[in-house]
Amino acid sequence: SEQTKLEWNKAPCRFCGTGCSVMVATRDGKVVATHGDAKSEVNRGLNCIKGYFLSKIMYGRDRLQTPMLRMTDGKYDKHGEFTPISWEKAFDTMAERWKATIKAKGPTAVGMFGSGQWTVWEGYAAVKLMKAGFGSNNIDPNARHCMASAVGGFMRTFGIDEPMGCYDDMEAADAFVLWGSNMAEMHPILWTRITDRRLSAPHVKVAVLSTFEHRSFDLADLPIVFTPQTDLAMLNFIANYIIQNGKVNKDFVNKHVNFRKGTTDIGYGLRPTHPLEMKAKNVATAGDSTPMDFDEFAKFVADYDVESVSKLSGVPEHKLIELAELYADPNRKVTSFWTMGFNQHTRGVWCNNLIYNIHLLVGKISTPGNSPFSLTGQPSACGTAREVGTFSHRLPADMVVTNPEHRKHAEHIWKIPSGIIPPKPGYHAVEQNRRLKDGDLNCYWVQVNNNIQAGANINEEGLPGYRNPENFIVVSDAYPTVTTQAADLILPTAMWVEKEGAYGNAERRTQFWHQMVKAPGESQSDLWQLMEFSKRFTTDEVWPADVLAANPQFKGKTLFEVLYQNGNVDKFPLSDADPKYLNDEAKHFGFYVQKGLFEEYATFGRGHGHDLADFDVYHKEHGLRWPVVNGKETKWRFREGSDPYVKAGKDFEFYGKPDGRAVIFALPYEPAAEEPDEEYDIWLSTGRVLEHWHSGSMTQRVPELYKAFPDAVCFMHPDDAKKRGLRRGDEIRVISRRGEIKTRVETRGRNKPPVGLVFVPWFDASQLINKVTLDATDPLSKQTDYKKCAIKIVKA
Ligand code: SF4
Repeated sequence: SEQTKLEWNKAPCRFCGTGCSVMVATRDGKVVATHGDAKSEVNRGLNCIKGYFLSKIMYGRDRLQTPMLRMTDGKYDKHGEFTPISWEKAFDTMAERWKATIKAKGPTAVGMFGSGQWTVWEGYAAVKLMKAGFGSNNIDPNARHCMASAVGGFMRTFGIDEPMGCYDDMEAADAFVLWGSNMAEMHPILWTRITDRRLSAPHVKVAVLSTFEHRSFDLADLPIVFTPQTDLAMLNFIANYIIQNGKVNKDFVNKHVNFRKGTTDIGYGLRPTHPLEMKAKNVATAGDSTPMDFDEFAKFVADYDVESVSKLSGVPEHKLIELAELYADPNRKVTSFWTMGFNQHTRGVWCNNLIYNIHLLVGKISTPGNSPFSLTGQPSACGTAREVGTFSHRLPADMVVTNPEHRKHAEHIWKIPSGIIPPKPGYHAVEQNRRLKDGDLNCYWVQVNNNIQAGANINEEGLPGYRNPENFIVVSDAYPTVTTQAADLILPTAMWVEKEGAYGNAERRTQFWHQMVKAPGESQSDLWQLMEFSKRFTTDEVWPADVLAANPQFKGKTLFEVLYQNGNVDKFPLSDADPKYLNDEAKHFGFYVQKGLFEEYATFGRGHGHDLADFDVYHKEHGLRWPVVNGKETKWRFREGSDPYVKAGKDFEFYGKPDGRAVIFALPYEPAAEEPDEEYDIWLSTGRVLEHWHSGSMTQRVPELYKAFPDAVCFMHPDDAKKRGLRRGDEIRVISRRGEIKTRVETRGRNKPPVGLVFVPWFDASQLINKVTLDATDPLSKQTDYKKCAIKIVKA
């Protein structure tokens, strides 16, 4: 009957960077079912357990539905109770604080935190509001905690961001090596493709490396558990093995590679700023990298021989050799995958550089099955967080604020006067928390993120800043979280198919969806919130007087007019939108805002190696991998015949670098920022579990997912438990120099740490493990190492 008729539409999954496509069924204004999209090249009709329960994430009973301000007796009060207010009052209160702060302290005292869960145009609109509107580079994404080291690695080695390969590598490779990546739980659909390849082609080998055994080890032909931080040495050993055994692809190396030494050059002007980062040796003294030749490089890695690396890493020599042989064997196509094991590392950028070293030495890159492949966490960590420029040092399409030409180009496309975008990088994620605490950053807006649960060392470096009486903290979210609870003002947010959106996944695939249902109550999309807020400011209130004097045509205009009614964004009429679908933002603003923002953003990348197709194409397609040139997507970049940017006759061209050559870097092993000692005698590693998406704010509201893994536990080796007089299920205190939590011992199950290391997932808001973790960051990428710190465990 009419009543029971379902309407099905495609959308990318709301969760991880795999970028599965799902079919979404709506009925009577509600999402009622989802299933894997059989037409999707990514997931071929499958989903993981999170994807199967997508239809339930929007219907948790405690969904936020109205703006709420902390108030006492009808007035804002930092210690007051959350009280429902109108959007008008919410934005007026915010704007009053923002204006007073900018007037008193300038634009560096306001900031924003977002993530790769923003849609492409939401992230882009946020960058514009902060960098072009307020003239503040203090916007950073959660990708700082997730992908910043990968970005640094790509920029150093190739001069352009994001993987050269694609998921098709999984059906072409003869060997897979996982470096600090539990794909079985974190990228389960990709794992099904690898499993399929491994089980259907007997010659295929799978090597899994981690500091503890996890579910991906079930498929491993070569399981390797190593001492934390020694991946740096193992990577150099493999390079050494390849050289010593005459397995270098000399033709490839001679034509396509440069060698460099020196440790700090990242090419985008970030330098160590915090004592914990300074601890890392080499940083304070080494200059930017300088050229070296192959022989010098060979000499540099010669120290990393099998005996000493085996001793350091705890990995038997025969295993190290077997691993190196996977890369060295000229008849084997190898794809390496990594995620947080490499990226959340005090030398995360180096880890990324070192894996590229290996693939470049043997020329196993940019051809089907030969891929160094950095996987992403969030659904649009690539498409939004990285590509539209939400990092505090970045602008769209890999440009950076420190480069005057890049600023000029952005100001030209944005049609704003030159001199608005500041030349200095803003505060990165960890620095934002420190500056909030110190009172340098006073107005702060968090969207699409549960930052208090996600940030490291939150007792000392997270919460104090949010509760600093000088500060006004705004958090937009769909559900109450520990971050909304620490805020002054909560804004209710439309999520997923309650708005029109676009995500870009880990293989450069851009995917769109339509708005299918209305958000509950007064919830509004992040895009709507950003644009409405921009109406509260005129250029006179936020732009430098000298810039305005030189550009009087901008005087008195609102930021909304300047940023979003600029002749680019507002040029697509409502009639361009498919009338079949609701699009609340477009209707509200009177033009097809999503299309305007996307097309303006796309002009940054077209002709510069980041070409996106026309907006309308993506609503019809099941995703396309950029660069998309003449309607054709690109599967493997940097290779002639596959990548339209590689000139004829060049076979390979790493065109992100001026001379078309990628870089092999000589980089040393370096100890972790904190190691177990007599008192804090065991390593802690943190991470995720299959059933929960990041901090669990969505998945813990799905009864099936909640019940599947209700509470975090401390995975521990039975001998470590015995040594402390503990049994499975006992309540314990996990204590570091920074804080402690209570949890329970788990000596069985999916994660099996070695003696001397425990693993605690971070999804559980009732056990905030980030009270314990260390906020030491990579001095280049500023990404925190959540995988290593020293703790002690005692019975509660
Ligand atoms: Fe696919 Fe990731 Fe969604 Fe699972 S969570 S269905 S792997 S996109």
